[in-house]
Amino acid sequence: MSDYDVDLFVIGAGSGGVRAARIAASHGARVTIAEEFRVGGTCVIRGCVPKKLLVYASRFADEFEDAKGYGWQLAAPSFDWCTLIANKDREIDRLEAAYVANLERSGVAIVRSRAVLEDAHHVRLVASDEIVRAKYVLIATGGRPHLGAEIAGLEHVISSNEVFHLKSFPARILIQGGGYIAVEFANIFHGLGSQVTLVYRGDNILRGFDDDIREHLREEMVKRGITILTRRTVEAVEKVDHGLVAQLSDHASVTVDQAMFATGRRPNVSGLGLDRVGVKLDAKGAIVVDRYSQTSVPNIYAVGDVTDRVNLTPVAIREGHAFADTVFGGRPVAVDHADIPTAVFSEPEIGTIGLTEAEARQQFARVDIYKTSFRPMKATLAARASRSFFKLIVDGESDRVVGCHIAGPDAGEMIQLVGIAVKMRATKADFDAVMAVHPTAAEELVTMRSKAASYVREAAE
Ligand SMILES: Cc1cc2nc3c(=O)[nH]c(=O)nc-3n(C[C@H](O)[C@H](O)[C@H](O)COP(=O)(O)OP(=O)(O)OC[C@H]3O[C@@H](n4cnc5c(N)ncnc54)[C@H](O)[C@@H]3O)c2cc1C
Repeated sequence: MSDYDVDLFVIGAGSGGVRAARIAASHGARVTIAEEFRVGGTCVIRGCVPKKLLVYASRFADEFEDAKGYGWQLAAPSFDWCTLIANKDREIDRLEAAYVANLERSGVAIVRSRAVLEDAHHVRLVASDEIVRAKYVLIATGGRPHLGAEIAGLEHVISSNEVFHLKSFPARILIQGGGYIAVEFANIFHGLGSQVTLVYRGDNILRGFDDDIREHLREEMVKRGITILTRRTVEAVEKVDHGLVAQLSDHASVTVDQAMFATGRRPNVSGLGLDRVGVKLDAKGAIVVDRYSQTSVPNIYAVGDVTDRVNLTPVAIREGHAFADTVFGGRPVAVDHADIPTAVFSEPEIGTIGLTEAEARQQFARVDIYKTSFRPMKATLAARASRSFFKLIVDGESDRVVGCHIAGPDAGEMIQLVGIAVKMRATKADFDAVMAVHPTAAEELVTMRSKAASYVREAAE
């Protein structure tokens, strides 16, 4: 008789936890997973999936407008927020049920409770006060929104958690933040018809992305009618009869119906008992792990946003899978976090992989830049002023494409495929050898012949 009730106890049924639980069970482990909110985690319940549904909804506005240039006569369309939210909720319920069914089919026991660590091998289920003895524990508790400094009226501000359940559609919304979540919601609400003000304390939106992409997206968003106020913060929010008044650090004020802060996320570690057990955290409160996701306590592992490596769903899933293969599959697998393709579902959409120009110029002695900006074909008859932007960053010595940055329709879809080439270490000559698909936007990837710039680093004296 085993000393343990389970081989693996997973805390958190989000992207990383669910994958780890299923794969560990497929390797023959006895697995229990605890979830304190809803099975599926942030991505399915209040992240990627519902967000993308809102992105789809918001994009119809352009389609209706553009249709006229193509000969369609449409009665003025109207939009109903409550219908969208109800339909979105139905889809999320369906997905949650599918996640539960898949876990159950894999033989994983699901416990609907908060779980905390008593010691390295004992997990307490808060709902029943039961103790489970586990040989291994996986912490996959994700992250939570962080609203920043305590300011007056912060209780009137919502985060991305609440935005998916607003009872009424805000005609005017202020969004604070410059990361991808802030930018995406600014575009969603603008597309659905809100007057949007984006406030960000930094110089430009999307810190960490290629500077040309940041500039391009900002220009396009402003052109569309989104107000972007950088180098400013919201200092107070006051509730008034007709909405909320946000006081900004430059003494201006903005009156809105809703204020949302997307000012970052923090690892979800509080109250888990990690200090009691000796699981080490870094300065930002993330669980410190090695390349196999093992924490400072040998039988405790952690994956996903709680480790703050690269906070994206496919990464959490890969880490969860690798953990299960390593510990229960007899095959040590370390996740490769280099060159992760990613998208921002803004307007225009962004797709990016690899190094930014600034990073490449730090890293390589010679860097060649290829870039182009053009009006997408569909915009011509629609008389839409939007422009697309493509950029390739090439290591001038090896000719390898080390970065690709796209702004334009379907950039997310394109970058997934470019990602294969970049991971395979394709050179610019490999790109050029591919015949163009015409007429597409993606053909720019294989037809950019002249360098926009070439940088050679001076040798150090
Ligand atoms: C608005 C938004 C949009 C996003 N869009 C994208 C996108 O387009 N693409 C992308 O790749 N990523 C996106 N992300 C990021 C993505 O959602 C996360 O990277 C991913 O969900 C991380 O997975 P995880 O398993 O680490 O944690 P999560 O999915 O957050 O799951 C953690 C789970 O643990 C549960 N939990 C926490 N503590 C306990 C406890 N003590 N006991 C029991 N259960 C507990 C939580 O309730 C949660 O269900 C988005 C995130 C947000 C917020």
